[in-house]
Amino acid sequence: MRLTRKFIAALVIGVALVALIQGYLDYQRERDVFDRQMRGEAAALGRALARGVAHVWQRDGEAAAREFLETATSKRESLQARWIWLDAKDRDEPRAPREELGDMDSGNIVTLRDKTRRVLFTYIPVEVPERRRGGLEIAQSLEQFDQYISTSLRSQIIGSASAVTIAALLALALGVVFIGRPINRLAEKARRVGTGDLSGPLDLKQRDELGELATEINLMCDRLADEQKARETATEQLRHADRLTTVGKLASGLAHELGTPLNVVQGRAKLIAEREVEGQDVEDSARIVVEQAERMTALIRQLLDFARPRALHKAPVNVTTLGARVCQLVATIAKTANVTLDPPPADETLRISADDGQLTQVLTNLVVNGIQATPPGGTVALAARFVEQAAPPYVESDEQTWMAISVRDTGIGLEEAHRARIFEPFFTTKEVGMGTGLGLSVSWGLVREHGGWIDVQSTPGQGSTFTVYLPRGAA
Ligand code: ADP
Repeated sequence: MRLTRKFIAALVIGVALVALIQGYLDYQRERDVFDRQMRGEAAALGRALARGVAHVWQRDGEAAAREFLETATSKRESLQARWIWLDAKDRDEPRAPREELGDMDSGNIVTLRDKTRRVLFTYIPVEVPERRRGGLEIAQSLEQFDQYISTSLRSQIIGSASAVTIAALLALALGVVFIGRPINRLAEKARRVGTGDLSGPLDLKQRDELGELATEINLMCDRLADEQKARETATEQLRHADRLTTVGKLASGLAHELGTPLNVVQGRAKLIAEREVEGQDVEDSARIVVEQAERMTALIRQLLDFARPRALHKAPVNVTTLGARVCQLVATIAKTANVTLDPPPADETLRISADDGQLTQVLTNLVVNGIQATPPGGTVALAARFVEQAAPPYVESDEQTWMAISVRDTGIGLEEAHRARIFEPFFTTKEVGMGTGLGLSVSWGLVREHGGWIDVQSTPGQGSTFTVYLPRGAA
C-alpha cells in the first residue's frame, strides 16, 4: 500500500496547491471588485452632492449649503459626508494628511484608504464663491469590506478543504482498488513463484498495465511449469536409467547367487522324486526346498524393489540397517572383485527422516563405485554418525546437526582433474559398458532433494571417502 499512499499524497498536495492558488486569485479579484465598487459609489454620490452643495452655496450661502449636506447624508449609515477646507485647522480640517490631497487643487477627486481607522476617504473639490479651496470629505467604513473579505476567505477555505478531502477520498478508493490491491496480489504471486509454487493463476479483472502484467506472469508461470514438468520427467528418467544400470551390475551377481540354492533345490527334489529318502527325511528335504525357494524369492524381490520407480516418500529410516542392507545387495559384486565390505555397526539412535528407496540408490552407487575403484584385497567400509557442523553456503540451511554417512574405500583415489567433474552427468572414466557417468550426478540430485550434500575426500593411490550429509528431519 506504500505506492497508494504516495499516489494519494501527491494528488492531495497537487489539489491543495491548485485550490490555494485558485483561492488566492479569487480573493484578490473579489477584493479589487469590492474596492472599485466602494470607490465608484463614493465618487458618484460625491459628485452629485458636490453639484447640490455648490448650487445651494451660491444661491443661499454657506450655512444653507452645510445644512443641505447634513440632510442629504443623514440617512446613510455606511457613508458620512462633511464639508472641509483644505487650509482649515479647526473642525473643517480634512482627516487625511494635507500633502496627500494635492490633486484636489487641480480639481480631481482623491481617494485614500486609512488603514488604522479602517475608513475609505473620498475628497471631491467643490467650487464656492469663497477664495479658499474646499470640498466634500466622504468617509466609508471598511467594516463591511472586512466582513465581506472574511466571509469570502472562509468560503474559499471551506471550498479548498472540501476539494482536497474529496480528491483524497477518491484517490484512496481508486488507489486501493486499481493500484494497492492488484500490486499486493502481484507481489504475493511473485513471492510464491520465488518459492517454486507456480499454482493459482492471478485473476486481475482490470484491463490496464497491471492487468497485462498479471497475464504475462500467468503465461510465464505456465511456461515455467511446463519446463519444470519436463525437467522432472527427465530427472526421473535419468534416475531410473541409473537404477537399471545398477540392477544390471547386481543381476550378474544375482545369477551367481541363485546358483547354490538352485543346486540344493534340484538335489533335494531329485531325492524326493526318486524316493531315495523316506519318512522324516522326505519332510526335511521338502523343508529345505521351501527355505531355499524363499531365499531365492527374497533375493529377486530385493532386486525388483531396487529397480521399481517410486514417488518420494520420507519416513523414519535407521541408517545403519539401510547400510547393512546395501552391503547385502552388493555382496556378490564385492565377492567377485575380492573386496571386503564393512557394513556400519547397528545403532538404533542413528535415525533420520528420508526416502528409503532413494537413500538405498545413493549408497548402492557409492558402494559399487568404491568396489570398482578398489583393487582385490581392499576394503569398502560404511559408517554413520551425527556431526555438529555448518552446511556449505549453497545448501542454504542453518541446521547444525547433520547425519554423516561415509563410504570409505582403499581404492585408487581421484585425480585432481577428475575430482572437479565427478558430479557432472555422463562423466565417467570407466570403460564402455562399465560406467554411464550417471551414478554420482543422480546421487547428488537425490541428496540435494533431501536438503543435504555430498562431500569427497580422496588421495590418489590411497582411496576415497564419499560422505553424504543429511538433515535429521522429523525422524
Ligand atoms: P560411473 O560409475 O558410471 O562412471 P559415476 O557418476 O558414479 O559414474 O562416477 C563418475 C566417475 O567418478 C567415475 O567414472 C570415476 O572416475 C569417479 N569415481 C566415482 N567414485 C569413485 C571412487 N570411489 N574412487 C575413485 N573414483 C571414483
